[in-house]
Amino acid sequence: MKVAKFGGTSLADAEQFRKVKKIIESDTSRRYIVPSAPGKRYPSDEKVTDMLIGCFNVAQKGQNIRALFDKIKSRFFDIAIELEIDTACIDDKLDEIEQNIQNKSSRAYAASRGEYINAILLSEYLSLPFLDAKNIIIFNVNGELDQSKTHEQIQLHLATLDKCVIPGFYGIDQKGNYHVFSRGGSDITAALIARSINADIYENWTDISGFRAADPRIVPDSKYIQQLTYKELRELSYMGATVLHEDSVFPVRASGIPTQILNTNDPLHPGTLIHYLPQQKAHLPLVTGIAGKKGFTAITIEKLRMNSELGFGRKVLQILEKHNLTFDHLPTGIDTMSIIVSTDSLFKCKDKLKEEIESAVNPDSIVFTDKLAMVAVVGSGMSKKIGIAARLFTALAEQGIVIKTIIFAPSELCIIIGIDEDYLETSIRSIYDTFIRE
Ligand code: ASP
Repeated sequence: MKVAKFGGTSLADAEQFRKVKKIIESDTSRRYIVPSAPGKRYPSDEKVTDMLIGCFNVAQKGQNIRALFDKIKSRFFDIAIELEIDTACIDDKLDEIEQNIQNKSSRAYAASRGEYINAILLSEYLSLPFLDAKNIIIFNVNGELDQSKTHEQIQLHLATLDKCVIPGFYGIDQKGNYHVFSRGGSDITAALIARSINADIYENWTDISGFRAADPRIVPDSKYIQQLTYKELRELSYMGATVLHEDSVFPVRASGIPTQILNTNDPLHPGTLIHYLPQQKAHLPLVTGIAGKKGFTAITIEKLRMNSELGFGRKVLQILEKHNLTFDHLPTGIDTMSIIVSTDSLFKCKDKLKEEIESAVNPDSIVFTDKLAMVAVVGSGMSKKIGIAARLFTALAEQGIVIKTIIFAPSELCIIIGIDEDYLETSIRSIYDTFIRE
């Protein structure tokens, strides 16, 4: 049993709908289908969700949304007419939505209507039942997902539905108010459904064939990663590799359900399969992927005999907490402690922070080093292998790159290095050539 989520570009126009139908009908185990709202058909196009939010903003100013809303209607009517779907299934609903947005419905209601109408169209086109997400995705009044009620409702409603189409991205609270996940959140809806029905797999159909071993803007011919673990995914996503909505992974990861990223425009491509544990242990690549991010600052605090001063670390970290600052890494030496944070987060509090650390722990020095990039070299196959770090550092040395900090993630599946931002691209290319290029 599979849950298949189709993103906005996969359902942007009638041609894409045809591809989606073929995909769904080619495998009868694809039983629960979760669509996004129509996305961009070409780079300068608008996403329907953005157009709906645009209508909401105009209505809030008391202006008429007719002209804007007509564009949204045409997007849906164009799809329906080309696919010979009777527009009666969406006609009145679109009028009602227009009226509601004009009469100042909530932003979440407006934003969610692209998924709602698209799912109705898709269910008509596939001749499958439509199940409104408001019946199964339950939020509390503060807009947080109510996981246990959602789980209960999914199980209850899907028990009697062999197959159906369910719009992604939104749900309601007990007062009937609409809420949406953050942008791209249809991924979360589908993952929640996959978990609650204990699906064999959660398929995420998009417009790319999965994760690449390195950002293709840096390594244009970088390979697709066929197999990934959720832990590796976390390390790579954290450093900027984005394909899935970050929060979509937690429900399926916790239940050990694999996620497969697949390409609607190239359905025979194997994509990327994300598992709980590495699959073919014997043939694990040493390095699965490399990702990096600029914009870090290292706050380096030095004090003689820091290691024997009780509570030193706590006092420093408490000051960060007071300023609402999270840290990304914490490499330490005997007499030094370095706190790596995002440079942006220091914007307003750098001087105050320095002052407070000085008065709390009386250090010999505090130095802020900006323009730091962090590069994560990730691979479950690297633990217990000899010489990985040696090869990595040789590769960087050959490019004349100075390593400013090194972190061996305790999970043993990741080496993170800090370098000057200007060398980020060169370092990723050289690490890719050393470990991944054949
Ligand atoms: N349509 C929403 C967005 O554009 C949600 C989604 O596509 O997953 O963010």
